[in-house]
Amino acid sequence: MADLSLVAVLSGIVDALEEVSWTAALSGIAGIAVGAVLNAYLRYRADRAAARKELVEAIGVVADQCIAAVIDLHAVVVAGNNSADRWKAIAQYRREYASVIALEVRVFREFKDRRVRAGFRKITNRLERFRNLVADTEPVPDAKVELAQSWVEKQLSDTISFASTIAGINLTDPSRPIFIGFRRVTRQDRKVLSFGDEPAPWEFHMETQVGGMEDKDSQAFLAHNKPKVESLMCTVHNRPAHIYFVGHDRSNIAIELETCCEEFARQVEKKLAGGRKNDGLREKSQKPRST
Ligand SMILES: [Zn+2]
Repeated sequence: MADLSLVAVLSGIVDALEEVSWTAALSGIAGIAVGAVLNAYLRYRADRAAARKELVEAIGVVADQCIAAVIDLHAVVVAGNNSADRWKAIAQYRREYASVIALEVRVFREFKDRRVRAGFRKITNRLERFRNLVADTEPVPDAKVELAQSWVEKQLSDTISFASTIAGINLTDPSRPIFIGFRRVTRQDRKVLSFGDEPAPWEFHMETQVGGMEDKDSQAFLAHNKPKVESLMCTVHNRPAHIYFVGHDRSNIAIELETCCEEFARQVEKKLAGGRKNDGLREKSQKPRST
């Protein structure tokens, strides 16, 4: 491009000298200047797109290596009784995790989109939660490890999917519309855009999201409801429930359940309904989660 511009400059000047037309020469030079700026801009765009594409790949690779390091650690804990191996595995995980953290600056520099930034932050959070789960000296059940692994991988694949779209890598069927516009923001949207993560699927969770409810009232409300359900586990999937009390004000609070299956959602609801005559609750929705 630089060479071509130079040729254009020279030919512009030669033409101008031959015809002794200064206006022609000036307009030629102005055109070349605009062309140069445009070229520089296009060049910048291309560099940036390339940087993003490379970054999307890097996120996938380093996060996967980090997940593998946690699985190695789990294997060492299961094998048991050699604490040197366990410490080595923990150290290896730290090295892999450091590579993930090193990418964060690049992610924030290359991507302005909040879904990508928040998504990446959640990958780092989930990797640490996953590591904490298996780092104990006592091995946790394999099923729990698999659940945690899929929780991290889900976040990784969601984030890569957002980032790929922005970087111009098409991972989805182009015939399917992906734009979600002009509708009310749902709790799912807020989850995607939030830097805070959702509770881990292997842990019980209950919270209130009620407008105008004071902290102490919220605490009392949870203290009243928690004992009814916190020890419940789905007998089929061995998972606890995530329960959200939502509403614009105290007079109209709805329950949103996130559970592994509908059967378990029904059990949780039944327990919550026990002694619930006058607390203003109504049933809103069940959201069985298929992970
Ligand atoms: Zn279940």
